[in-house]
Amino acid sequence: MSSTTGPDPAKGPDPAKDVDDAGDVTGFAELALRPGLLRSLAALGYEEPTPIQREAVPPLLTGRDLLGQAATGTGKTAAFALPLLNRLADARDGDHGPQALVLVPTRELAIQVSEAIHRYGRDLGARVLPVYGGAPIGRQVRALLQGIDVVVATPGRALDHMGRGTLRLDDLDTVVLDEADEMLDMGFADDIEAILEQAPEGRQTVLFSATLPPRMDEIARRHLRDPVRIQIARAAQEPGATPLVRQVSYIVPRAYKTAALGRILDVESPRSAIVFCRTREEVDQLADSLNGRGYRAESLHGGMSQEQRERVMEKLRTATADLLVATDVAARGLDLEQLTHVVNYSVPSAPDSYVHRIGRVGRAGREGVAITLAEPREHRMLKTIERVTRQRIAVEKVPTIADLHARRLELTRAALQESLLEDDLERFRVVVETLTDEFDPMEIALAAVKLAHDASYVPDGMDDIPDLPPTTGGRNERAGRDGAGRRDRRPPSGGMARLFVGAGRGAGVRPQDLVGAITGETRLSGRDIGAIEIAQRFSLVEVPDGAADDVIASLRGTTIKGRRVAVRRERQDSR
Ligand code: AMP
Repeated sequence: MSSTTGPDPAKGPDPAKDVDDAGDVTGFAELALRPGLLRSLAALGYEEPTPIQREAVPPLLTGRDLLGQAATGTGKTAAFALPLLNRLADARDGDHGPQALVLVPTRELAIQVSEAIHRYGRDLGARVLPVYGGAPIGRQVRALLQGIDVVVATPGRALDHMGRGTLRLDDLDTVVLDEADEMLDMGFADDIEAILEQAPEGRQTVLFSATLPPRMDEIARRHLRDPVRIQIARAAQEPGATPLVRQVSYIVPRAYKTAALGRILDVESPRSAIVFCRTREEVDQLADSLNGRGYRAESLHGGMSQEQRERVMEKLRTATADLLVATDVAARGLDLEQLTHVVNYSVPSAPDSYVHRIGRVGRAGREGVAITLAEPREHRMLKTIERVTRQRIAVEKVPTIADLHARRLELTRAALQESLLEDDLERFRVVVETLTDEFDPMEIALAAVKLAHDASYVPDGMDDIPDLPPTTGGRNERAGRDGAGRRDRRPPSGGMARLFVGAGRGAGVRPQDLVGAITGETRLSGRDIGAIEIAQRFSLVEVPDGAADDVIASLRGTTIKGRRVAVRRERQDSR
């Protein structure tokens, strides 16, 4: 650590003042975090802690152990990362082991969590390293030897480094088990126990999990001391408190979210909508791209002056803007009479926040639609929201380009109908009459429709948005069967190769075991993996063709459900 906790003359003004100047970060300031952390949060555009952060950070700062039930999307990474960064000792030399170890189920998550901790700890100069299988060990060894404050590791690779003496646990203040249930599902229970056994007695242990199966309770009983228990779905909604609105969700990879939202809005054509984002940056970027797509979108967030806010509100009131893109904080207390749609551009961080947001539509018997965009990994949070609100959120497919064309034609037809019923069209008669000498009236009408249609056309970008199932619990559903349960003998999707893995349901293999083995051992991420089919005695999994040989070699060198299995490209006789 090369940080200081007090005002640093080299950095200019008093950091605490910087934070005040950054606007609505008071929610975080109340959490008694170091100024350097508050500065990073302000720079990231976080306006207030999420419920899990509000509940978890204070006890973690006092050194308590914690057992938290929370899924991806709740802000749980910052909930454990901020306290462990807050605890980091100042100025240490290289001859120390890391002060915090975060165990995660997959390579993908190791990278993601490590990037998040790096972002939060940037101002403190925290050194963070992701350590996972499938990557050359030499580079990791060198980095570990140079001195690292926080290691984010998959359990197998952590044990490997411990065995080599390159990962020392004796200086650990904190151990975090993130997505612990997924680690158990992937067969890491023994590895986790072995790591915890070797961690110092007096350390703090934090366990986050979306579900709490019995084995987890056992681990918690053995390795956590009098933990604070936090369950983020706790605040049950009173039945009937959620207004009756149409609630839909779309599972969309992050890279396609803006394009998907554009299409959804085109099809829904809301009269007036509010789109909720997590951060100020997200608000500004999304408002910009929606304006580029022909919407009249205005941003509203805590970084804006009162005067700017009032200007935005005026535009909404006078209907010179039809979309408001906002953070929760900025939209608090806002009452928009004409609102027809609420859009969650990201899954809200807690069910309460969802209920609160969508409570803005469907009032007084008016039409209301609540749309939620979820990344594949956030599927569980959607399920939690459904459970807590006791209402179903239908998962729908993002409209296709054909759907868009059909919808646009429908809008043109409706506009023409309205014009026929309401407008005074007499002054155009002369145009039609002069043309009828030469053309059939139907042809004239067709040309007029084309002009009207084209005039309202806004290009979509036409990117192909992949139709992805959720990462968790969804892969079975596309496991190569059609609705009637028949085997689907399609060739693999374009650019993909189908691999045969010699273990199936009979050996207890589930889709997440295969995803875990592949992402843990190769450079692929969960999103790269295609359809998975689990039969009784074998499994079939689609991977990008170019990576197939790499995956085969890696899987042959590892175990799935504790045993070595045959892996090869699928032959026609595999089934
Ligand atoms: P997680 O549940 O930790 O995967 O976090 C979900 C997302 O929420 C990540 O993109 C975080 O950057 C973001 N996030 C976490 N805490 C906050 C906060 N207090 N305000 C806004 N965004 C947040």
